[in-house]
Amino acid sequence: MHAELAKLARLQDTEQQLLALKTQLASYSSRIRAHETALAETTQQLEKNVKALAKESSSRRGMELDTEDLRQKNARYRAQLDGIQSDGQMKALEHQIVFCKQEIDRIEELEFSSLVETEALETRQRLLHETIANQNQALANEKSAAEFGRARDEAQLTQLTSERDAVRSSIDDSLLANYDRISAAGKLPVARVEGQRCSACQMMVRPQRWNEIREGALHFCESCGRFLFYDPAVDLSDAIHLPPAGKKPAGPAKSSPSGHGTATGSDPATRED
Ligand SMILES: [Zn+2]
Repeated sequence: MHAELAKLARLQDTEQQLLALKTQLASYSSRIRAHETALAETTQQLEKNVKALAKESSSRRGMELDTEDLRQKNARYRAQLDGIQSDGQMKALEHQIVFCKQEIDRIEELEFSSLVETEALETRQRLLHETIANQNQALANEKSAAEFGRARDEAQLTQLTSERDAVRSSIDDSLLANYDRISAAGKLPVARVEGQRCSACQMMVRPQRWNEIREGALHFCESCGRFLFYDPAVDLSDAIHLPPAGKKPAGPAKSSPSGHGTATGSDPATRED
């Protein structure tokens, strides 16, 4: 029976490895997609930046035309000053000249702000170009890593699948049916028993059962219903005898306490003090 349980445990391990491989295989596309999304976002930012730069440049051309127009008007008004007949005309012209000067100052301030903004946009555009180059490189790296990983994982998947099929076909039918029933409930069907405890639900195994399990008997966990599998290679609690806690010799130790020798776990009646 122990051999059958060992096969079930191996089946479970193989299925777990298959699951991990399938998850890993699916992760390649999602990692590539994440790089592609980042690249698309930066490209969109670059397009916005290019548009903003064009807008600044075009509005500055408009400002230059407006300023030029205002300067010409200003010159005309000044030329008219000589032929003025009345105080009213003089005041009106002077008012126009002051207005032109104020407008020119206001537009020049706007032009200056636009130049500052343009400089910031140009700096940002250089950074965006660099970022896009880096993102393209990262995407290419991810793609080639995925290509390599997929080939490796798919080969391993094929190998593990045939291993799993071979183990399944070698297991007793009724045991396999039980295994599949527990598995269908979404649980890992085999739990290793370590230190007299179900490793899945931590329920203690009663001493009588614990002895039988170690002799290779088939038992299910009374709490979680899984196959209980004892693997002496994993459970070292039989092989190592730790000194009992809290018992320290009062005086200097004269001799080391005599141990149990090397317990191998072959004797189910072995008890600890
Ligand atoms: Zn359990």
